[in-house]
Amino acid sequence: MCGIVGIISSKEVSSRIINSLKKLEYRGYDSAGIATLVNGNINEVKCEGRVDVLEQDISKFNLKGDIGIGHVRWATHGKPSKVNAHPHSSDEVSVVHNGIIENSTILKKLLEKKGYTFKSQTDTEVIAHLVTDYLKKNSLKDAIIKVLKKLHGSFALGIIFKKQNNLIVGARRGSPLAVGYGPNENYLGSDSYALKSMTNKISYLDDGEFCFVKKDQIEFFNSDGSKINKKVMNLSKDEVNYDKGDYKYFMEKEIDEQPTTINACINEYVDKLNNQINIYNFPWKISSFKSAMLIGCGTAFHSCLIAKYWMEQNTNLEVSVDIASEFRYRKIKFKKDCIYIFVSQSGETADTYAALDLCKKNKVKTCAVVNVIESSIARDADLVLPIYCGQEIGVASTKAFIGQMLVLYILSTKISFDQKCIDRKEYQSKIKNLLCLSTSAKKTLKQDQKILNIGKVFAEAKGSMFLGRGFSFPIALEGALKLKELAYVHAEGYPAGEMKHGPLALIEEGMPVVVLAPRDEHYKKTISNMQEVIARGAKVLLITNKNKDEIISENIWEKIEVDQLDDELIPFLITIPLQKLAFYSALEKGYDIDKPRNLAKSVTVE
Ligand code: GLU
Repeated sequence: MCGIVGIISSKEVSSRIINSLKKLEYRGYDSAGIATLVNGNINEVKCEGRVDVLEQDISKFNLKGDIGIGHVRWATHGKPSKVNAHPHSSDEVSVVHNGIIENSTILKKLLEKKGYTFKSQTDTEVIAHLVTDYLKKNSLKDAIIKVLKKLHGSFALGIIFKKQNNLIVGARRGSPLAVGYGPNENYLGSDSYALKSMTNKISYLDDGEFCFVKKDQIEFFNSDGSKINKKVMNLSKDEVNYDKGDYKYFMEKEIDEQPTTINACINEYVDKLNNQINIYNFPWKISSFKSAMLIGCGTAFHSCLIAKYWMEQNTNLEVSVDIASEFRYRKIKFKKDCIYIFVSQSGETADTYAALDLCKKNKVKTCAVVNVIESSIARDADLVLPIYCGQEIGVASTKAFIGQMLVLYILSTKISFDQKCIDRKEYQSKIKNLLCLSTSAKKTLKQDQKILNIGKVFAEAKGSMFLGRGFSFPIALEGALKLKELAYVHAEGYPAGEMKHGPLALIEEGMPVVVLAPRDEHYKKTISNMQEVIARGAKVLLITNKNKDEIISENIWEKIEVDQLDDELIPFLITIPLQKLAFYSALEKGYDIDKPRNLAKSVTVE
C-alpha cells in the first residue's frame, strides 16, 4: 500500500516524480504529495485526492529542485486530508513512509516532551522529528541506524535532508522498496513499475537494510551500518511497457487478456511435445509430502480454496487452507512433510509475507505462487512458481486470479501423477484438456453484451448472493468479492447447500442471485437450491456449461453458458462472467473501476 518515489539528479525532478506517482496510484490514492530540496530549503506541495490534483497544484508553484521525494497515500493513521498527506517535514528533514509505526503514540509523547510539535495525525510524522532529534548529536548515518532501531512496525522510507544536498535515504522493514540506476541520477521507488520509464536497472532492499541514494552511486547498509553489495537486475522490455492500449480501464484490458495469459502460463509449465508438466528446480521429492497448506489473502485465498478441492480429488495429500492474517497468529504445529504454499499477486502482501517468515523460522518447506518474481515472498520462498500473467494494475484482481488457479492446478496435476494417483493416460488427457482452456476462455469473453445488461440490475441491488457447490463454491466467493470491491454492492458468496441454514432469510422479491451450476456431480443438487431461491422471489442468473440436456427449471431470469470442458477446468470459465458482471455493475454506477474506494493493490500493511 502507498507508493514512494525519490529522484536525485542534476536536472529538475518534480515532473518525473509526478509521472512515477501516477504509475504508483494503484497502491494508494487518497492523497498525494511531493517535497524537493532547493538551496537548503524543503518545498512541499500536498493535496487530498489524486495525483492529477497534485499536478495542477504543482504547476501553480513552479516547484524547482533536483532532489525530491513523492508519495501516494493509503491512510492508516489519520483521515485522508492535505495535512495528513506525505511528505511530513520537520525543521531538518522530509519523510515519505509506507507502512505503520506501531509505537508512534509512545514516540510522539516523548518527542512532545522534548518540545517537538506535530501538525498531522499520522504515525509517520514521528519519524521526521525523531531523525531531527538524533541528527543533533549524531552523524547522519548513525542517526538513521538509531532511528530505525527505535521504530516498531513496518516501513519503507524515503528521507531528504535540508543540510545534505547529495543524498536521499531509503530504508526498509516489511514494506517493499526498490532503487533504480540512471545516467548521472538515481532513484528510489516502492516497486520497479514506478521507475520503469527512467531505468531498467533495479535493486531491491531486503528487510532491515537502508541505503544512501546519491547522484552517481547507491550505497547499501545492513541494520548495524555495515556496507553490503546488492545484485542489480535488468528488467525485460515487456515489463517496461505496460499501458492501457485502446482500453479505458486496466481491469477491462486485464480481463480480456486472460486467454493470452492462460497460454503464456501453460507454455511455461507444459511440455507440449512430450505431453508432460515440467516444474524445474523442484527441490524436494514429491512423494515425500503427506500434506499441503495453502495460504493467501482476499482473491489469492480463493485460489487456495479451489486448489484444496483439486488436490483432495487428485492427490494423496491432506490439504488445508488458511487466511494469512489468521495463520500467522495461530499456534500452528509445523510439519516437516508438509508443503506450505503462499499465494500473492504482488509477492509483497504483508500478512502472507509474515506467514512465510514464520514457516521459514520453523524450517519447513515453502513454495511461493506469485506474479512479481523479484518480490519479497518470491525471494524468500524455497520454490517459486510464477503465474506469468504480466503486470496487473486494476486493484481488483482478475488475470492474476486465473493465473494463480492455473499454477495451482498444474502443481496439483503434477503431484497427482508423481504420487501415482493417476496413470499416464489420465495425466496426458488432463494436459490435453488444459490446452483447450485458452480457446474456451476466449469464447466466454464474447458474451459481453448480455452481461452488460445484467450488470445494470446488480448495480441497483441492495444486496445479492452468489451460490455454488464443490469447485464452484470458491468461485462464488470470488464473484461476490469482485462485486463488493467494484460496485460496492453487498454480496454474499455461499455454499449453495448451506443457504437454508440461515441466509435464505435474506432472499426477497427481485433480489439478484448468481447460481453457479456446472453440469458436474453437484448439478442436480444446486439446481434444487436454485429453485428454493426462485420460489422466494430471487432473480436468478444461472451460469452453467453447455450440454445437450435441457435445463429443467422454470423462471430463471438470465442464463450464461460456458464451454463444456473437463469439470475441473470449469471454474476458470465461470470466473470470467463474474469478473465482467462486477466490471459492468461498477461502470453503470460510474465508479472508478481501477481504483475502488478505500482499497489499494499490494497490501503491505497488516
Ligand atoms: N501509516 C502512514 C499514514 O497513515 C502511511 C500509510 C501508507 O502506507 O500510505 O500516513
